[in-house]
Amino acid sequence: MIHSAVLLEDLHREAAAHLLRRDGQEDVTFALWHPSQGRDRRSSIVNELVLPHDGDRLVHGNAEVMPQYVERALAEALARGAGVALMHAHPLGSGWQGMSSDDRDTEASLGPSAFGATGLPLLGMTMAGDETVAARLWVRSGPRRYQRRECESVRVIGQRLQVFFEPRLRPAPTAGRTQVRSVAAWGPTAQAMFARLRVGVVGAGNVGSIVAEILARTGIGDIRLIDFDSLEVLNLDRTLGATRLDVLLARSKVETAARAVRRSAVSRSQRVEAIEFSVAESDGFRAALDCDVLFSCVDRPWPRAVLNLMAYAHAIPVIDGGILVRTIKGERMRGAEWVAQVAAPTRRCLECVGQYDPGLVSAEREGYFDRPSYIAGLPEDHPIKRNENVFIFGVADASLEALQFLSLAVAPGGISNVGAQTYTAAAGCLSSDYSPCLSTCLYSGPDILGRGDHSGLVVTGRHETAEQTRETRRREQRRLPKRILRSGAGIGDRIIELLERRVAN
Ligand SMILES: [Zn+2]
Ligand SMILES: [Zn+2]
Repeated sequence: MIHSAVLLEDLHREAAAHLLRRDGQEDVTFALWHPSQGRDRRSSIVNELVLPHDGDRLVHGNAEVMPQYVERALAEALARGAGVALMHAHPLGSGWQGMSSDDRDTEASLGPSAFGATGLPLLGMTMAGDETVAARLWVRSGPRRYQRRECESVRVIGQRLQVFFEPRLRPAPTAGRTQVRSVAAWGPTAQAMFARLRVGVVGAGNVGSIVAEILARTGIGDIRLIDFDSLEVLNLDRTLGATRLDVLLARSKVETAARAVRRSAVSRSQRVEAIEFSVAESDGFRAALDCDVLFSCVDRPWPRAVLNLMAYAHAIPVIDGGILVRTIKGERMRGAEWVAQVAAPTRRCLECVGQYDPGLVSAEREGYFDRPSYIAGLPEDHPIKRNENVFIFGVADASLEALQFLSLAVAPGGISNVGAQTYTAAAGCLSSDYSPCLSTCLYSGPDILGRGDHSGLVVTGRHETAEQTRETRRREQRRLPKRILRSGAGIGDRIIELLERRVAN
């Protein structure tokens, strides 16, 4: 199991203001955290500081925590159902900080009481003078035995995404000759961050297949493609990298997109995984929770609602897009709009921006969208009936999403938030909206924000359409040999794949 920690951006700023003292002495603060359990990664999300009062600690070069302060932090954690974090500063250090023997003694002695009171391990954090944050968990390994587990990264998320990597677990790779031009555009630090990010693409259709290509060529080190759907003839005019042969071989959309990523990868250590589940199913959800950034390339309300929860409860930034085409009686195009925005703490959520109708989420969960009688009863312009993601618009929307990602992670010119963008094709203009969430919004409120698995909302469930689609695909794949022989296809494709694998190795 990999460990990672998350700090909401506001708290990172607040902690820096408290910990990095003008007099250069070390200071300390407690904080509260909630777990977010992915498939391969366990994240600890810090969503509240418990700052010291007068007399709670002694500052004499380094800081000493008084018992009353420990008790108050434990009581606050119990009241919130949270874990306890202890954060201290190394004002003279820069980069990911190691631990002094004093640091180890302090945290090792607090570990048992934190675990005893909350059932969650103590999270230790160190902030360097350059505001880099290092983190580790004190995990119980037996009776009265606690082991230190270093986090592989600390993610700070809000208006911007910053990721600090543990230098031994996640060393910065050097970019190869294939990335010379990319490094020239945004510099080696950004490229080294891209190479170590795990990015999920949810939905591998039109926009998703293009986003995956952009990520592969940009040198994103680890890409997860999440979609249950099969590739069909109808998808061929709008899915990058998909061929008739893929349809004939009954391939899934993610399998096809994963092959394209492998072919386009510029990084030798590129990892890609095809996950044939919906993000609304438990397996897809857990795989998505392992990601540092998610791209929302879905068009249904249920997966969008799931992604919205991830953006706020689990503090994983979600870059969302969407396309709407207006026609005159289906005969002539009147106009088209596409949008791109980032859902993340302190930014407007997908529900408040109107990207999905929460009322339709339960209709989809109950399977109404796949009942012909339900669909027939809907008006012609209902969002569920429309499906206009054609390639031209898909490329444009994928490009807007990629630019949102670049702003979020690199902040060109110091600007990380370019607002929720809408491109109006008829007029050819791009507009930005910086409105916050509605005051009644649950997602940006304290009951959900940064509460991870403790949000109390169950958004995943049995997805009958996904199950049936996988079953149909398996059945068709079992019948494959006959189909391939009949068509005479498949052999050339195999040879190309074998050659490519040999070149890659
Ligand atoms: Zn220290
Ligand atoms: Zn909202």
